[in-house]
Amino acid sequence: MGSPPFPFTLLLHGGSGRLYPAGAPFLKEEDYKEALAAASRAGFAVLAKGGSSVAAVETSLKVLEDSPLFNAGRGSVFSHAGANEMDAAIMNGFTLMAGAVAGVRTVKNPISAARAVMETSPHVLLTGVGADEFSATSGLETAPASWFHTDERWQQLQVLKEAELRHLSHAQTLPQSSKYGTVGAVALDQAGRLAAGTSTGGMLNKRFGRVGDSPLIGAGTYANHVCAVSGTGHGEFFIRHAVAHDIAALMEYKGLTVQEAADLVIHQKVAAAGGKGGVIALDSRGNVAKPHSTEGLFWALASADGRQEINVCNMVIE
Ligand code: ASP
Repeated sequence: MGSPPFPFTLLLHGGSGRLYPAGAPFLKEEDYKEALAAASRAGFAVLAKGGSSVAAVETSLKVLEDSPLFNAGRGSVFSHAGANEMDAAIMNGFTLMAGAVAGVRTVKNPISAARAVMETSPHVLLTGVGADEFSATSGLETAPASWFHTDERWQQLQVLKEAELRHLSHAQTLPQSSKYGTVGAVALDQAGRLAAGTSTGGMLNKRFGRVGDSPLIGAGTYANHVCAVSGTGHGEFFIRHAVAHDIAALMEYKGLTVQEAADLVIHQKVAAAGGKGGVIALDSRGNVAKPHSTEGLFWALASADGRQEINVCNMVIE
């Protein structure tokens, strides 16, 4: 058997931001590494067996959603009203089909709901109660509110609400580990098909049905035949700058490499506007980029040439 024609690759992120103070030990480093490694192994196994990039993205993100460590699925942050309202999207770069859900509360794996929207409905984005109803009638597993409740996230909400009452600014008060923590994946399969997916609990203390960039195709998630992109960071900026699509467009129309395009959008456009965050991006030859303007980005990479890397460094508060 010869080698597969495309250098199949899976790149994951586990969010950007700050997690622990400089000089202090990062107590959960091993836990984060293990979770990212497990997700990477599961998703890469799909690619190695000849499975699709869409299946690899879903498989790996389900592992991260089921972990309480990340702001997605089980470890989602709380809204102002004390609920876990989750957003997710997935896109097949080969067919340009896409699916997304926003503000779901009962489907256990929002990324699977997004895939069901893409593959079994005529729609792209479903929201709230309707999206949960669609997921349940699609046969997807549901979970009670207690599954999504973690004490650490609950505590973060209390600290922030308390500060609000005392009129302190977010910057002064936001518990550091509550900043970001979304999960995302981009994959290239053996048939050369790209896919991207993103899943999040959104922003801590969000109100009024706020939806971020993650479930919005072209903002936090996008894939076509040239690249696949998943973002994490301050969603409002990613929406305004159509970050994920902008990277794809710079590559397609201007011939930029994935690194050049991703760097330009994150470090010039979004940064100039005052937005912080990062992306993982993958092109059709297996080249990756992971620029971020935050203190750090958690990521894991596995590729057909044997590369297996995990990064949980640099998430330090100065
Ligand atoms: N981008 C997400 C949002 O704004 C948050 C994150 O990446 O952590 O909802």
